[in-house]
Amino acid sequence: TDRLLTPDRIPEDQDAALRPKTLAEFIGQAAARDNLRVFIEAARGRSEALDHVLLFGPPGLGKTTLAQIIAREMGVGFRATSGPVIAKSGDLAALLTNLEEGDVLFIDEIHRLNPVVEEVLYPAMEDRALDLIIGEGPSARSVRIDLPAFTLIGATTRQGLLTTPLRDRFGIPVRLSFYTVGELEAVVTRAARLLGLGIAADGATEIARRARGTPRVAGRLLRRVRDFANVAGQPTVDALAADAALTRLEVDKLGLDAMDRRYLMMIADIYRGGPVGVETLAAGLSEPRDTIEDVIEPYLIQLGLIARTARGRCLNARGWKHLGLNPPEGAQE
Ligand code: ADP
Repeated sequence: TDRLLTPDRIPEDQDAALRPKTLAEFIGQAAARDNLRVFIEAARGRSEALDHVLLFGPPGLGKTTLAQIIAREMGVGFRATSGPVIAKSGDLAALLTNLEEGDVLFIDEIHRLNPVVEEVLYPAMEDRALDLIIGEGPSARSVRIDLPAFTLIGATTRQGLLTTPLRDRFGIPVRLSFYTVGELEAVVTRAARLLGLGIAADGATEIARRARGTPRVAGRLLRRVRDFANVAGQPTVDALAADAALTRLEVDKLGLDAMDRRYLMMIADIYRGGPVGVETLAAGLSEPRDTIEDVIEPYLIQLGLIARTARGRCLNARGWKHLGLNPPEGAQE
């Protein structure tokens, strides 16, 4: 998608330039950070590879960044790939046999691994071994190859998307949640410093409030706001300048864009507040169901604008009010 507010990575994000390099530099996610610090220290103390880590949470919250930080803090190499890229079990075997002792192998979108490839991963994770079939037909035999001790770091948008056998093989599950406005202010201020842009505290707050709880979106909004400031010849971004730029970009006060408002409007207008099934909404909005569930809904739920119920999606009273409409009787607060 080309949405300004999509938490998915787009080419001009220059994520790498803004990535914190150490746990200490990593803003927010205090519980995850504190736990990881302990596990890393313990593994280092025993001179062992870190247990396998599963990072889950909406896109743009720092899963790739954390995986790189873990490798760096462990003092080991980092290899990255993603579920859909590993087409054959041979591709995974090649990756695994090329790892050095202790290395981190990062697999983004691990829920999208082909099931045949996933089977190869089980013994690799559990016994650090690879079972290869050599030959064909009656003469085929299985050979076991030992792998170096390595750490698999898997990333996924929802823990529930993983098969149980895969999920069970991760010793360290880490949930990332949306960032608070205060944390995003710190993300924006840090990014502005790295970009050499002057920003007033209220300017950082204004961007933070509208960044959907997501550092990647915060970084992107900051760069767009910088464009407006540069053209206007403003040396420093304050709340007024940030608001003017974001309003022109059609990012509203809560950080919702046109697609979010279409989603809310559809439930309000056509389904009288719901409940309505996600497939129906996906069809009505011409968006894949995954985009609705991974990208649009989590933040609307976080804001309390909608609710996911067993019977479908419902608009809460807050959702009606955000659209400037009166909630009907019986709408959930
Ligand atoms: P994910 O892998 O979850 O989609 P990334 O790790 O690629 O997310 O992070 C997206 C962007 O947000 C990167 O530019 C990264 O620098 C920035 N970012 C993520 N988490 C933080 C954080 N805690 N502090 C500062 N910047 C962050």
